[in-house]
Amino acid sequence: MLCRDAFELPDGIVYLDGNSLGPLPKGARERAMKTIEHEWGQELIRAWNSADWIGLPTRVGDRIARLIGAAPGTVATGDTLSLKVYQALAAALPLRPERKVILSDTGNFPTDLYMADGLAALMGQGHRVVTVAPEAVEAAITEDVAALLLTHVDYRTGRMHDMARLTEKCAAVGAIIIWDLAHSAGALDLDLAGLEVDFAVGCTYKFLNGGPGAPAFIYARPDHVADHAPTLAGWMGHAAPFAMERGYRPADGAERLRIGTPPVVQLSILDAALDVWDGLDLADIRRASLHLSELFIAEVEARCPMLSLASPRDGHERGSQVSFRHPEGYRAVRALIDRGVIGDFRPPDIMRFGITPLYVTEADILSASKILADVMAHDLWRAPEYKRVARVT
Ligand SMILES: *Cc1c(COP(=O)(O)O)cnc(C)c1O
Repeated sequence: MLCRDAFELPDGIVYLDGNSLGPLPKGARERAMKTIEHEWGQELIRAWNSADWIGLPTRVGDRIARLIGAAPGTVATGDTLSLKVYQALAAALPLRPERKVILSDTGNFPTDLYMADGLAALMGQGHRVVTVAPEAVEAAITEDVAALLLTHVDYRTGRMHDMARLTEKCAAVGAIIIWDLAHSAGALDLDLAGLEVDFAVGCTYKFLNGGPGAPAFIYARPDHVADHAPTLAGWMGHAAPFAMERGYRPADGAERLRIGTPPVVQLSILDAALDVWDGLDLADIRRASLHLSELFIAEVEARCPMLSLASPRDGHERGSQVSFRHPEGYRAVRALIDRGVIGDFRPPDIMRFGITPLYVTEADILSASKILADVMAHDLWRAPEYKRVARVT
Protein backbone atom coordinates (compact mmCIF):
# COMPACT_ATOMS: atom_id res chain seq x y z
CA MET A 1 0.00 0.00 0.00
CA LEU A 2 2.83 2.34 0.76
CA CYS A 3 3.60 4.18 -2.46
CA ARG A 4 6.26 6.66 -1.53
CA ASP A 5 7.74 6.22 -5.01
CA ALA A 6 4.65 7.83 -6.45
CA PHE A 7 5.62 11.14 -4.80
CA GLU A 8 8.43 13.61 -5.24
CA LEU A 9 9.56 14.20 -1.70
CA PRO A 10 12.84 15.99 -1.03
CA ASP A 11 15.57 13.87 0.54
CA GLY A 12 15.95 14.22 4.27
CA ILE A 13 12.40 15.43 4.85
CA VAL A 14 9.80 13.72 7.02
CA TYR A 15 6.57 15.20 5.73
CA LEU A 16 3.86 15.33 8.38
CA ASP A 17 1.74 18.05 6.78
CA GLY A 18 -0.22 16.12 4.17
CA ASN A 19 -3.33 17.10 6.13
CA SER A 20 -2.74 20.67 4.98
CA LEU A 21 -1.01 20.32 1.61
CA GLY A 22 -0.33 16.90 0.12
CA PRO A 23 3.05 16.43 -1.61
CA LEU A 24 3.62 16.41 -5.37
CA PRO A 25 2.63 13.13 -7.05
CA LYS A 26 5.13 12.29 -9.81
CA GLY A 27 2.37 11.82 -12.37
CA ALA A 28 1.11 15.35 -11.69
CA ARG A 29 4.17 17.07 -13.13
CA GLU A 30 3.97 15.14 -16.38
CA ARG A 31 0.25 15.71 -16.65
CA ALA A 32 0.56 19.44 -16.01
CA MET A 33 3.21 19.72 -18.72
CA LYS A 34 1.03 17.78 -21.14
CA THR A 35 -1.96 19.98 -20.39
CA ILE A 36 0.02 23.17 -20.74
CA GLU A 37 2.33 22.35 -23.63
CA HIS A 38 0.34 19.97 -25.76
CA GLU A 39 -3.29 20.73 -24.99
CA TRP A 40 -3.22 24.46 -24.31
CA GLY A 41 -0.10 25.21 -26.34
CA GLN A 42 -0.86 23.21 -29.48
CA GLU A 43 -4.53 22.43 -29.41
CA LEU A 44 -5.55 25.84 -28.14
CA ILE A 45 -9.30 26.21 -27.77
CA ARG A 46 -9.87 22.94 -29.65
CA ALA A 47 -8.71 21.14 -26.48
CA TRP A 48 -12.12 21.65 -24.86
CA ASN A 49 -13.25 18.89 -27.22
CA SER A 50 -10.07 17.15 -28.41
CA ALA A 51 -8.65 16.71 -24.89
CA ASP A 52 -12.14 16.59 -23.34
CA TRP A 53 -11.51 19.47 -20.97
CA ILE A 54 -15.27 19.90 -20.92
CA GLY A 55 -15.76 16.43 -19.44
CA LEU A 56 -12.91 16.71 -16.94
CA PRO A 57 -14.88 18.10 -13.95
CA THR A 58 -17.35 15.23 -14.16
CA ARG A 59 -14.70 12.54 -14.63
CA VAL A 60 -12.75 13.83 -11.65
CA GLY A 61 -15.96 14.09 -9.60
CA ASP A 62 -16.72 10.44 -10.29
CA ARG A 63 -13.22 9.44 -9.16
CA ILE A 64 -13.64 11.36 -5.92
CA ALA A 65 -17.08 9.78 -5.47
CA ARG A 66 -15.49 6.34 -5.29
CA LEU A 67 -13.18 7.51 -2.50
CA ILE A 68 -16.01 8.85 -0.33
CA GLY A 69 -18.52 6.07 -0.84
CA ALA A 70 -20.77 7.93 -3.27
CA ALA A 71 -22.29 6.91 -6.60
CA PRO A 72 -21.09 8.28 -9.95
CA GLY A 73 -22.86 11.50 -10.91
CA THR A 74 -23.35 12.68 -7.32
CA VAL A 75 -20.14 14.72 -6.91
CA ALA A 76 -19.40 18.02 -8.65
CA THR A 77 -15.96 19.64 -8.65
CA GLY A 78 -14.71 23.21 -8.88
CA ASP A 79 -14.29 26.45 -6.96
CA THR A 80 -13.03 26.33 -3.39
CA LEU A 81 -14.34 24.61 -0.32
CA SER A 82 -15.65 27.87 1.14
CA LEU A 83 -17.94 28.29 -1.87
CA LYS A 84 -19.05 24.68 -1.72
CA VAL A 85 -20.02 25.11 1.94
CA TYR A 86 -22.13 28.08 0.88
CA GLN A 87 -23.80 26.14 -1.92
CA ALA A 88 -24.55 23.13 0.26
CA LEU A 89 -26.11 25.31 2.93
CA ALA A 90 -28.05 27.30 0.33
CA ALA A 91 -29.42 24.00 -1.01
CA ALA A 92 -30.21 22.64 2.46
CA LEU A 93 -32.07 25.57 4.07
CA PRO A 94 -34.97 25.75 1.59
CA LEU A 95 -35.65 22.06 2.30
CA ARG A 96 -36.71 23.08 5.83
CA PRO A 97 -38.16 26.57 5.32
CA GLU A 98 -39.94 26.71 8.67
CA ARG A 99 -36.74 26.05 10.68
CA LYS A 100 -34.26 28.83 11.44
CA VAL A 101 -31.30 27.23 13.21
CA ILE A 102 -28.04 26.43 11.43
CA LEU A 103 -26.20 24.30 13.96
CA SER A 104 -22.43 23.84 14.05
CA ASP A 105 -19.69 23.36 16.62
CA THR A 106 -17.14 25.69 18.14
CA GLY A 107 -14.31 23.62 16.69
CA ASN A 108 -15.40 24.25 13.12
CA PHE A 109 -13.01 25.86 10.66
CA PRO A 110 -13.61 29.63 10.61
CA THR A 111 -14.44 29.90 6.89
CA ASP A 112 -17.32 27.41 7.23
CA LEU A 113 -18.89 29.57 9.92
CA TYR A 114 -18.21 32.83 8.06
CA MET A 115 -19.93 31.45 4.98
CA ALA A 116 -22.92 30.38 7.08
CA ASP A 117 -23.12 33.84 8.71
CA GLY A 118 -22.98 35.53 5.31
CA LEU A 119 -25.64 33.34 3.77
CA ALA A 120 -27.97 33.77 6.77
CA ALA A 121 -27.59 37.55 6.56
CA LEU A 122 -28.21 37.60 2.79
CA MET A 123 -31.30 35.42 3.05
CA GLY A 124 -32.82 37.77 5.58
CA GLN A 125 -35.24 35.11 6.86
CA GLY A 126 -34.11 35.09 10.45
CA HIS A 127 -31.67 32.17 10.30
CA ARG A 128 -29.26 31.95 13.23
CA VAL A 129 -25.89 30.23 13.25
CA VAL A 130 -25.66 28.44 16.60
CA THR A 131 -22.38 26.82 17.71
CA VAL A 132 -22.08 24.39 20.61
CA ALA A 133 -19.12 22.44 21.98
CA PRO A 134 -18.31 19.38 19.84
CA GLU A 135 -19.42 17.03 22.64
CA ALA A 136 -22.76 18.86 22.88
CA VAL A 137 -23.71 18.57 19.21
CA GLU A 138 -25.74 15.40 19.48
CA ALA A 139 -27.99 16.76 22.21
CA ALA A 140 -28.46 20.02 20.28
CA ILE A 141 -29.91 18.28 17.21
CA THR A 142 -33.58 19.11 17.74
CA GLU A 143 -36.59 19.78 15.56
CA ASP A 144 -35.59 23.47 15.44
CA VAL A 145 -32.49 22.67 13.43
CA ALA A 146 -32.75 23.25 9.70
CA ALA A 147 -29.20 22.18 8.92
CA LEU A 148 -26.27 20.77 10.84
CA LEU A 149 -22.97 21.94 9.32
CA LEU A 150 -20.09 19.96 10.76
CA THR A 151 -16.49 19.33 9.89
CA HIS A 152 -16.01 15.61 10.39
CA VAL A 153 -12.42 15.82 11.64
CA ASP A 154 -11.36 18.86 13.65
CA TYR A 155 -8.52 20.70 11.91
CA ARG A 156 -6.80 21.52 15.18
CA THR A 157 -7.04 18.39 17.28
CA GLY A 158 -7.99 15.67 14.81
CA ARG A 159 -11.07 14.87 16.92
CA MET A 160 -13.56 12.98 14.76
CA HIS A 161 -17.32 13.15 14.98
CA ASP A 162 -19.32 9.93 14.76
CA MET A 163 -20.65 10.38 11.24
CA ALA A 164 -23.09 7.47 11.28
CA ARG A 165 -24.60 8.41 14.61
CA LEU A 166 -25.03 12.14 13.96
CA THR A 167 -26.33 11.55 10.43
CA GLU A 168 -28.92 9.17 11.85
CA LYS A 169 -29.94 11.62 14.56
CA CYS A 170 -30.43 14.35 11.96
CA ALA A 171 -32.59 12.04 9.88
CA ALA A 172 -34.66 11.19 12.96
CA VAL A 173 -35.52 14.84 13.68
CA GLY A 174 -35.67 15.95 10.07
CA ALA A 175 -32.55 18.15 10.11
CA ILE A 176 -30.36 18.26 7.00
CA ILE A 177 -26.75 17.18 7.56
CA ILE A 178 -23.82 18.76 5.72
CA TRP A 179 -20.48 17.08 6.35
CA ASP A 180 -17.26 18.93 5.61
CA LEU A 181 -14.75 16.25 4.62
CA ALA A 182 -11.69 18.53 4.35
CA HIS A 183 -9.71 16.29 6.70
CA SER A 184 -11.49 13.05 5.83
CA ALA A 185 -11.40 12.55 2.06
CA GLY A 186 -8.38 10.39 1.26
CA ALA A 187 -7.79 9.59 4.91
CA LEU A 188 -10.85 7.65 6.05
CA ASP A 189 -13.07 4.91 4.77
CA LEU A 190 -16.29 6.80 4.08
CA ASP A 191 -19.72 5.61 3.00
CA LEU A 192 -21.85 8.65 2.18
CA ALA A 193 -24.41 6.76 0.13
CA GLY A 194 -24.77 3.97 2.69
CA LEU A 195 -25.35 6.47 5.50
CA GLU A 196 -27.77 8.48 3.36
CA VAL A 197 -25.83 11.67 4.04
CA ASP A 198 -27.65 14.74 2.68
CA PHE A 199 -24.72 16.88 1.55
CA ALA A 200 -20.94 16.76 1.83
CA VAL A 201 -18.17 19.08 0.73
CA GLY A 202 -14.40 18.87 0.76
CA CYS A 203 -11.14 20.10 -0.66
CA THR A 204 -8.60 18.13 -2.66
CA TYR A 205 -5.26 19.73 -1.78
CA LYS A 206 -5.03 18.01 1.63
CA PHE A 207 -5.07 14.19 1.77
CA LEU A 208 -5.97 13.90 -1.93
CA ASN A 209 -2.71 15.63 -3.00
CA GLY A 210 -4.27 17.79 -5.73
CA GLY A 211 -1.82 20.66 -5.21
CA PRO A 212 -2.15 24.23 -3.90
CA GLY A 213 -5.43 25.75 -5.04
CA ALA A 214 -6.85 22.44 -6.28
CA PRO A 215 -10.63 22.54 -6.84
CA ALA A 216 -13.12 21.54 -4.17
CA PHE A 217 -15.99 19.07 -4.42
CA ILE A 218 -19.61 18.84 -3.35
CA TYR A 219 -21.76 15.75 -2.90
CA ALA A 220 -25.54 16.01 -2.95
CA ARG A 221 -27.99 13.21 -2.30
CA PRO A 222 -29.79 12.78 -5.64
CA ASP A 223 -33.29 13.34 -4.25
CA HIS A 224 -32.19 16.67 -2.71
CA VAL A 225 -30.91 18.21 -5.91
CA ALA A 226 -33.50 16.90 -8.32
CA ASP A 227 -35.70 19.95 -7.69
CA HIS A 228 -33.03 22.31 -6.41
CA ALA A 229 -32.77 25.71 -8.08
CA PRO A 230 -29.13 26.70 -7.44
CA THR A 231 -28.48 30.04 -5.76
CA LEU A 232 -25.23 30.41 -7.66
CA ALA A 233 -26.72 29.52 -11.02
CA GLY A 234 -23.65 29.64 -13.24
CA TRP A 235 -23.59 28.67 -16.89
CA MET A 236 -21.49 25.56 -16.27
CA GLY A 237 -24.30 24.18 -14.14
CA HIS A 238 -26.78 24.77 -16.97
CA ALA A 239 -28.22 21.80 -18.82
CA ALA A 240 -26.83 23.14 -22.12
CA PRO A 241 -24.18 25.82 -21.47
CA PHE A 242 -23.38 26.36 -25.13
CA ALA A 243 -26.99 26.84 -26.15
CA MET A 244 -26.54 30.24 -24.50
CA GLU A 245 -30.17 30.40 -23.46
CA ARG A 246 -31.43 33.46 -21.60
CA GLY A 247 -33.18 31.32 -19.01
CA TYR A 248 -31.41 29.02 -16.56
CA ARG A 249 -32.18 25.32 -16.85
CA PRO A 250 -30.23 23.24 -14.34
CA ALA A 251 -28.13 20.27 -15.42
CA ASP A 252 -29.00 16.88 -13.99
CA GLY A 253 -28.00 15.98 -10.44
CA ALA A 254 -24.92 17.36 -8.76
CA GLU A 255 -23.68 18.89 -12.03
CA ARG A 256 -26.01 21.83 -11.41
CA LEU A 257 -23.78 22.76 -8.47
CA ARG A 258 -20.99 23.70 -10.85
CA ILE A 259 -20.67 27.43 -11.40
CA GLY A 260 -18.20 28.74 -13.98
CA THR A 261 -15.31 27.66 -16.18
CA PRO A 262 -13.38 24.80 -14.58
CA PRO A 263 -9.72 25.30 -13.58
CA VAL A 264 -8.43 22.95 -16.28
CA VAL A 265 -4.73 22.84 -15.38
CA GLN A 266 -5.47 22.33 -11.71
CA LEU A 267 -8.11 19.68 -12.48
CA SER A 268 -5.68 17.82 -14.73
CA ILE A 269 -3.16 17.77 -11.91
CA LEU A 270 -5.82 16.49 -9.53
CA ASP A 271 -6.83 13.82 -12.04
CA ALA A 272 -3.22 12.60 -12.13
CA ALA A 273 -2.99 12.78 -8.32
CA LEU A 274 -6.03 10.52 -8.08
CA ASP A 275 -4.18 7.81 -10.04
CA VAL A 276 -2.31 7.10 -6.80
CA TRP A 277 -5.57 5.78 -5.33
CA ASP A 278 -6.29 3.25 -8.06
CA GLY A 279 -6.24 -0.19 -6.49
CA LEU A 280 -5.90 1.19 -2.95
CA ASP A 281 -8.44 0.42 -0.27
CA LEU A 282 -9.24 3.26 2.12
CA ALA A 283 -9.79 0.74 4.92
CA ASP A 284 -6.14 -0.35 4.58
CA ILE A 285 -4.96 3.27 4.55
CA ARG A 286 -6.95 3.94 7.69
CA ARG A 287 -5.50 0.90 9.47
CA ALA A 288 -1.96 1.94 8.58
CA SER A 289 -2.63 5.51 9.66
CA LEU A 290 -3.91 4.36 13.05
CA HIS A 291 -0.85 2.19 13.53
CA LEU A 292 1.57 5.03 12.69
CA SER A 293 -0.41 7.50 14.82
CA GLU A 294 -0.28 5.23 17.84
CA LEU A 295 3.44 4.77 17.37
CA PHE A 296 3.94 8.53 17.14
CA ILE A 297 1.87 9.22 20.27
CA ALA A 298 3.76 6.56 22.25
CA GLU A 299 7.19 7.79 21.11
CA VAL A 300 6.48 11.47 21.70
CA GLU A 301 4.87 10.90 25.08
CA ALA A 302 7.83 8.79 26.17
CA ARG A 303 10.35 11.39 25.06
CA CYS A 304 8.62 14.75 25.52
CA PRO A 305 6.92 15.13 28.90
CA MET A 306 6.52 18.87 28.24
CA LEU A 307 4.04 18.21 25.41
CA SER A 308 0.45 17.24 26.05
CA LEU A 309 -1.65 15.25 23.64
CA ALA A 310 -4.37 17.44 22.11
CA SER A 311 -5.89 14.63 20.02
CA PRO A 312 -8.22 11.95 21.34
CA ARG A 313 -6.23 9.00 22.60
CA ASP A 314 -8.78 6.55 21.25
CA GLY A 315 -8.13 5.97 17.55
CA HIS A 316 -11.84 5.60 16.83
CA GLU A 317 -12.30 9.23 17.82
CA ARG A 318 -9.35 10.57 15.84
CA GLY A 319 -8.86 11.32 12.15
CA SER A 320 -5.49 11.02 10.43
CA GLN A 321 -3.59 13.60 12.43
CA VAL A 322 -1.96 13.83 15.83
CA SER A 323 -1.68 17.14 17.67
CA PHE A 324 0.20 18.19 20.77
CA ARG A 325 -0.06 21.33 22.87
CA HIS A 326 2.81 23.49 24.02
CA PRO A 327 2.77 27.19 24.94
CA GLU A 328 5.68 27.78 22.53
CA GLY A 329 4.28 25.43 19.91
CA TYR A 330 4.78 27.86 17.04
CA ARG A 331 8.48 28.26 17.69
CA ALA A 332 8.88 24.54 18.31
CA VAL A 333 7.32 23.73 14.92
CA ARG A 334 9.64 26.23 13.23
CA ALA A 335 12.67 24.62 14.87
CA LEU A 336 11.40 21.22 13.84
CA ILE A 337 10.92 22.27 10.21
CA ASP A 338 14.50 23.55 10.11
CA ARG A 339 15.56 20.06 11.11
CA GLY A 340 13.66 18.35 8.31
CA VAL A 341 10.42 17.43 10.07
CA ILE A 342 7.53 19.36 8.56
CA GLY A 343 4.39 19.82 10.63
CA ASP A 344 2.48 23.03 11.32
CA PHE A 345 0.92 25.18 14.00
CA ARG A 346 -2.57 26.42 14.79
CA PRO A 347 -3.30 28.94 17.52
CA PRO A 348 -3.27 29.09 20.40
CA ASP A 349 -0.83 26.28 21.12
CA ILE A 350 -1.43 23.35 18.74
CA MET A 351 1.41 21.54 16.95
CA ARG A 352 -0.19 19.44 14.18
CA PHE A 353 1.20 16.36 12.47
CA GLY A 354 -0.63 14.71 9.58
CA ILE A 355 -0.13 10.95 9.40
CA THR A 356 -0.29 9.79 5.80
CA PRO A 357 0.71 6.17 5.23
CA LEU A 358 0.98 6.64 1.46
CA TYR A 359 4.45 8.08 1.96
CA VAL A 360 5.21 8.11 5.71
CA THR A 361 6.96 5.05 7.16
CA GLU A 362 7.54 3.73 10.68
CA ALA A 363 11.16 4.82 10.33
CA ASP A 364 9.97 8.37 9.52
CA ILE A 365 7.81 8.39 12.64
CA LEU A 366 10.70 7.22 14.83
CA SER A 367 13.06 9.75 13.32
CA ALA A 368 10.53 12.60 13.67
CA SER A 369 9.93 11.68 17.33
CA LYS A 370 13.66 11.78 18.07
CA ILE A 371 14.13 15.14 16.37
CA LEU A 372 11.11 16.55 18.20
CA ALA A 373 12.54 15.28 21.49
CA ASP A 374 15.84 16.98 20.68
CA VAL A 375 14.12 20.30 19.91
CA MET A 376 12.13 20.17 23.13
CA ALA A 377 14.74 18.77 25.51
CA HIS A 378 17.37 21.29 24.44
CA ASP A 379 15.04 24.25 23.99
CA LEU A 380 16.21 24.63 20.40
CA TRP A 381 13.05 26.63 19.70
CA ARG A 382 14.47 29.52 21.75
CA ALA A 383 16.62 30.65 18.81
CA PRO A 384 15.65 34.28 18.06
CA GLU A 385 14.73 33.62 14.42
CA TYR A 386 11.69 31.60 15.51
CA LYS A 387 10.15 34.55 17.33
CA ARG A 388 8.82 36.31 14.25
CA VAL A 389 5.53 34.82 13.12
CA ALA A 390 5.30 34.23 9.34
CA ARG A 391 2.14 35.11 7.40
CA VAL A 392 1.32 31.44 6.93
CA THR A 393 1.74 29.16 9.90
C1 LIG B 1 -8.93 23.48 4.71
C2 LIG B 1 -10.32 23.81 5.10
C3 LIG B 1 -11.04 24.82 4.44
C4 LIG B 1 -10.42 25.69 3.37
O1 LIG B 1 -11.36 26.26 2.53
P1 LIG B 1 -10.91 26.83 1.12
O2 LIG B 1 -12.08 27.52 0.58
O3 LIG B 1 -10.43 25.67 0.29
O4 LIG B 1 -9.76 27.77 1.36
C5 LIG B 1 -12.37 25.00 4.80
N1 LIG B 1 -12.95 24.27 5.76
C6 LIG B 1 -12.27 23.30 6.42
C7 LIG B 1 -12.97 22.50 7.47
C8 LIG B 1 -10.94 23.07 6.13
O5 LIG B 1 -10.26 22.14 6.81
